[in-house]
Amino acid sequence: MSQPMDPFAQLPLRDNLRGLKPYGAPQLDVVNMLNVNENTHPLPDVVRDTIAADVREAAAGLNRYPDREFTELRERLAQYLGHNLTAADIWAGNGSNEVLQHILQAFGGPGRSAMGFPPTYSMYPLLAAGTDTEYIKGFRADDFELTAESAAAQVTEAQPNVVFLCSPNNPTGTALGLDVIEAVYEAGAASNAMVIVDEAYAEFSQVGTQSALTLLEGRERLIVSRTMSKAFALAGARLGYMAAAPAVADAMRLVRLPYHLSAVTQATANAALKHVDALLANVEDIKMQRDRIVDELKRMGLHPASSDSNFVFFGGLEDPAHVWQELLNRGVLIRDVGIPGHLRVTAGTEAETTAFLTSLEEILNESA
Ligand code: PMP
Repeated sequence: MSQPMDPFAQLPLRDNLRGLKPYGAPQLDVVNMLNVNENTHPLPDVVRDTIAADVREAAAGLNRYPDREFTELRERLAQYLGHNLTAADIWAGNGSNEVLQHILQAFGGPGRSAMGFPPTYSMYPLLAAGTDTEYIKGFRADDFELTAESAAAQVTEAQPNVVFLCSPNNPTGTALGLDVIEAVYEAGAASNAMVIVDEAYAEFSQVGTQSALTLLEGRERLIVSRTMSKAFALAGARLGYMAAAPAVADAMRLVRLPYHLSAVTQATANAALKHVDALLANVEDIKMQRDRIVDELKRMGLHPASSDSNFVFFGGLEDPAHVWQELLNRGVLIRDVGIPGHLRVTAGTEAETTAFLTSLEEILNESA
């Protein structure tokens, strides 16, 4: 077979970027978009109105640079998280992707390594490549679980500078026990590793699942990242954040671009945070749809993973690419994450979830 043309062949691109593919979940115009784990509920009117009013006010000051330290936003985020956190413990960026990039810019880089445990969030290796950080792939058990013993042993062996623990994990949906995070933190002491717990989906966790925020006290190498993109239904606003020791948050100021959070972004996020209860009002409904998906998939003879998130990863499919295409033909876009026999679906509104479940059952019956 002939090699595909390298579109960058003539460019003096860095070697470690050659052959990589950009992040590219399909953005298609279909009725039921359940492929990127957004919150598919529209923003409550009260939140829209406050954002519109506050952005209008901020617009009057757009001739000036915004507050470089986004002080009000840090205060509001600390207050939302609780756990005795203060503004000094918080950092934010344009989506948690940017926060993760800041972390790698500060603690990764040439000659350094970051470790993740695939299947996990697909941006970790890309962010590593972009910052010229070596990406070390750990492994999970066949059922995609990661135990404290296994994770700690792998970190001890690899001696990475940065460890990504995604909890709840994307694409599998399952949260890690705090014992895994504690064990990885201890194992990382040998290489002074920064341990990032990516809790993008934390608000959807099942009752009893604990956040790594409870572990921050006394652990200066631990970072917990969060986002307003999922539970808060604000993916379009691009606001992610993290909690860590003040020195860690401070270190981020060395790598961020000046004024990286625009006045419009800050006004939007601050306005939304005035209505936390309204913003989170749909979380329970989404969790119900998620649990409904798990139950229904089991009834159909498939194998859904236990989910602490707003999506469900499921196996037992003979031909996932066919099922994905047939769902799309019926106006339902979900995600083929490239894992044999598996697909991933976002829990949407009740109507979207019904569209997915009835279409899937139809497809399975056709091919039976
Ligand atoms: N972490 C995980 C696990 C994610 O799934 C995502 C988005 N899909 C992100 C981080 C980044 O989200 P954002 O940049 O919108 O905060």
